[in-house]
Amino acid sequence: MGFQIAIDGPAGAGKSTIARAIAAKLNFTYVDTGAMYRAMALFFLRNGIAPDDTAQIGAKCQEAEITIRHENGEQVVLLNDEPVNQFLRTEEVGNMASVSSANPQVRERLLGLQRQLAVENDVVMDGRDIGTCVLPDAQVKIFLTADSSVRAARRFKELSDKGISCDLEVIEKDIVSRDRQDSTRQFSPLRQAEDATAVDTSLLDIGQVTEAIVKIYSEKRCVFKR
Ligand code: C5P
Repeated sequence: MGFQIAIDGPAGAGKSTIARAIAAKLNFTYVDTGAMYRAMALFFLRNGIAPDDTAQIGAKCQEAEITIRHENGEQVVLLNDEPVNQFLRTEEVGNMASVSSANPQVRERLLGLQRQLAVENDVVMDGRDIGTCVLPDAQVKIFLTADSSVRAARRFKELSDKGISCDLEVIEKDIVSRDRQDSTRQFSPLRQAEDATAVDTSLLDIGQVTEAIVKIYSEKRCVFKR
């Protein structure tokens, strides 16, 4: 079993940027579980499945084989052996992922892969239910938050930088609605684990947040080694 750092929080709180920075600093494996749910969502969209067709989502997910490999520290997601990273970060896929990830069969299918990665490697894993469900014994648990307007502005910049045209107001609405879906679903809802440290990133830059989490890690590491 490797050392586990779990980072959860709502959309746009900075999880992936921070998790990637920490993984690079500590030489850990970065695992982006949102990308796995997005790859599943891409599969459903490609197969013309409607977001509200729960029965089809549950049945069809058995045909989607999601695996990952790492290239230069980056996680590459494979959907039935096809690398799909370039298709995952759109609002359409994100919104479908938020709906389809509520399905217990979809979650069950990805849980084993996520846990296996944490057995084989020291990991920084980000998502919605890492500290509460996937890695309940993680030595470090962080719950990242930020105001929804700040989170929307970040997502807007991320998409604009990639040349994807988007509307800030629509993005904020999407973010708020995804948070609601993620927090109120029956299976593995988004919530802060009791033993997680909450970090509000609204007024902090990436360096400050990374430093704060690495400090928490260093303190826990000493205890872990004893
Ligand atoms: O983090 P990201 O925005 O890429 O995640 C996309 C969607 O995948 C989230 O809105 C959430 O519904 C789902 N997800 C999840 N559990 C995780 C990670 C992501 O349900 N551990």
